[in-house]
Amino acid sequence: MRTITLADGQTINVECLSCAIVGGLVIPEGGVLIETDYFHAHQDVAYPITGQVIVASKRHIKCLDELTEEEAHDYILLIRKIRKAQREVLGIEHVYYFYNEDTTHHFHIWMVPRYEWMTQFGRSVESLRPALLHARTNMNSIEETNQIINSINKLREALLE
Ligand SMILES: [Zn+2]
Repeated sequence: MRTITLADGQTINVECLSCAIVGGLVIPEGGVLIETDYFHAHQDVAYPITGQVIVASKRHIKCLDELTEEEAHDYILLIRKIRKAQREVLGIEHVYYFYNEDTTHHFHIWMVPRYEWMTQFGRSVESLRPALLHARTNMNSIEETNQIINSINKLREALLE
């Protein structure tokens, strides 16, 4: 069991945060972006980066080779769809994809948009963590948070089409 502190300060005990999110026990701030039969996508507002999306499987699995044929097919189509929406409504030119199988949660991929300010932390995988922490520490004003919520709504709308 792990104790998770929610955005509103409430704490809950869960075996797996991903299960709690895809099962609706924990509602990510900003809500669900899109759901398919096998996957669930939301913005992680723990790191206020416009257009940053987390796609999690609905099943409690960890590794890519555990996906069924149907899940694998659904997965790539969903990521492509989200990527296209990021480009069309948010003007995101490049995205970094991060996925680790030894997660304490379950199968989920981070789609991290690449912004010009991130280059101060490097140009590859080493820049990911510092950029996320920089956003969390320095880009969390009310205006910036509102901009994130705005971008979530735009993405959600685009994904309905
Ligand atoms: Zn799980």
